[in-house]
Amino acid sequence: MQIHLARSAGFCFGVRRAIKIARSLAASHKTVCMLGDLVHNETVIQELEAAGIRKIKRLGLSHNGKLLIRAHGASRRTLAMARHHGYALVNATCPMVREIHQIVRSMDRQGRRVIVIGDRHHDEVLGIIGQIARRAVIIDHAKHIPWKALRHVRKAAVVVQSTQNLDRILPIVERLETRIADVRFFNTICKPTRLKQEEIKILPLQNDAILIVGSRTSANTKRLYEISKGLNSRTHWIQSPQELDPRWFRNVRSLGITTGASTPETTTRAVIARIRGIIRPTARRRTGA
Ligand code: SF4
Repeated sequence: MQIHLARSAGFCFGVRRAIKIARSLAASHKTVCMLGDLVHNETVIQELEAAGIRKIKRLGLSHNGKLLIRAHGASRRTLAMARHHGYALVNATCPMVREIHQIVRSMDRQGRRVIVIGDRHHDEVLGIIGQIARRAVIIDHAKHIPWKALRHVRKAAVVVQSTQNLDRILPIVERLETRIADVRFFNTICKPTRLKQEEIKILPLQNDAILIVGSRTSANTKRLYEISKGLNSRTHWIQSPQELDPRWFRNVRSLGITTGASTPETTTRAVIARIRGIIRPTARRRTGA
């Protein structure tokens, strides 16, 4: 059995940057906290905690403490509250998420109703809608468009959670355009997400089975799994090598693997090593060679 590891597997730019900021901060400061998970991966979070970064769920009073703002960003209210509680903020928000924040603020100033297409409970979406005082509309599915809330809207600006799948987004935008006179659409799906999704639209057609490696809390990993599963029913999603099931590899001559944007290379290597232990394949990176 051959293993084809996707070229785009591994950390995205935003996650790598956030981890680098966190590590260098932990090396130079005693009191460093992160509000929630810096990125959506349990192994990374354990490593950061081992480096001395404390994960907090709520803001408490701090004296000279540093607070890391996660890659997904945070609302303006959260930032203001953190400062109020005495934290010095270190912003590890991905630049691509910051760009969405800027668009949303600018469109709101221009009087457009902001519509965010994404998972309504995801940190990134909450951070996006938290950039403006006026209530933004969140749409998570073409079947759930809140027409009542949009009935008086004449001018709208639509942005997208950075890890969404464009194929699911465009039908929503098309439907909005039938009822709202002036819609400005910003495709804010980030480049690393697009590359990963482009690859996972091909890998499942070229391989007998597919493995998606990433946290259950990772939105971009979930998207990769959904796309792959739709193309190849022998798609499996694991967080760690321990979840591998030898039965998945029966009659499999080629296995495609990709990972979420916050899955460390160490996890991917461990997964491949365990598969080798199960079936002794020849692993090679998918380089087209
Ligand atoms: S998935 Fe995209 S938006 Fe999210 S951290 Fe990575 S590069 Fe930034």
